[in-house]
Amino acid sequence: MTTACVFCKIVAGEIPSELLYQDEEVIAFRDINPAAPTHLLVVSRKHIPSLLHLTEAEIPLIGHMTRVANQLAREHGIAESGYRLVINCGGHGGQLVPHLHMHLLGGRRLKWSQ
Ligand code: 5GP
Ligand code: ZN
Repeated sequence: MTTACVFCKIVAGEIPSELLYQDEEVIAFRDINPAAPTHLLVVSRKHIPSLLHLTEAEIPLIGHMTRVANQLAREHGIAESGYRLVINCGGHGGQLVPHLHMHLLGGRRLKWSQ
């Protein structure tokens, strides 16, 4: 837990959020500023600053986040129409919150944006 980290505060329940999924490794909730009709975040419980900081032992966490995001895509009715999973890393990658998270985006045809 890093006290200044907004996602650590959500994980700890200090900032309220409607949890859509939770297990020992991750939680999921809606993005506060949605970029698509469905925009969910799958967030590690552990404070890992970015993809770059994953240890070898933590690499399977990415597979688990993908599994959870796929399940959420089915539950939220966007599995068949299609969706996008995104992990931003670092400044040029567009990462704003330095705590590992995966975006699940869908509900409209998404453009490729750089
Ligand atoms: P990043 O740019 O780091 O990949 O994405 C961070 C995301 O977290 C952004 O899409 C932003 O809207 C979302 N976000 C930031 N603060 C909060 C918050 O307090 N609650 C929720 N639900 N989402 C947040
Ligand atoms: Zn954190």
